[in-house]
Amino acid sequence: MPHRRHFSPERPALIGLIGGMSWESSAQYYRLINEAVRDRLGGVASARTLMWSFDFARIEALQHAGDWDALAGQMADAARALQKGGADFLVLCTNTMHRCAWAIDAAVKIPLLHIADPTAEAIRAAGLTRVGLLGTAFTMEQDFYRGRLEDRFGLDVLIPDAEDRAVVHQIIYRELVTGQVLETSRQAYREVIARLAARGAQAIILGCTEIMLLVGEDDSPVPLFDTTTLHARAAVERALGA
Ligand code: GLU
Repeated sequence: MPHRRHFSPERPALIGLIGGMSWESSAQYYRLINEAVRDRLGGVASARTLMWSFDFARIEALQHAGDWDALAGQMADAARALQKGGADFLVLCTNTMHRCAWAIDAAVKIPLLHIADPTAEAIRAAGLTRVGLLGTAFTMEQDFYRGRLEDRFGLDVLIPDAEDRAVVHQIIYRELVTGQVLETSRQAYREVIARLAARGAQAIILGCTEIMLLVGEDDSPVPLFDTTTLHARAAVERALGA
């Protein structure tokens, strides 16, 4: 069982970030976490963090080869390194790689703050239950993510149809993780979101940590729940003692 220590602004946790997946979103995490600490504590306060940053070319190749065992080993190695460096808890800065959350839990004593949890809590707190999920094909189609939202939080999760899923996935891997933000892709996402809303989605989960680079509230008829922002804020709440 992971041990949980009590943290406070006087005794803040050292946040261990497993990043580089991609670094475009890790950079957002770094900014959001530091901004949240500054908002809470003021002045020149900033977050205590350690980041392990992967070469995403290697990670992406293993994902598309379906080698989840190798990926699990890499996530476990990163988690051990951060624990050894003194991290008090871990933040895995990608939705997709939560497929290997079990390997992190098994490798270290410190807890992993699962990205789906603050997201689902925010949705429930808003009184919503039927949500559309956007992310990589791995996240939209496999059970590790949707299952957690459904089983632990009672959410009803809609995913785009096969054609739309392919569009959403390709834009992530061909553009967003390489820092390209294109208007044509923003329009494509708007249309996918509109179709999910028309099917009854009361909100949309931006379930890939780069999607917030592409779309915002103006692109959706229903509220957006951005996993990057919610996860980063939850990390700061935990680090400072909520
Ligand atoms: N950052 C993305 C996510 O949240 C995709 C990149 C990855 O596969 O890790 O799923």
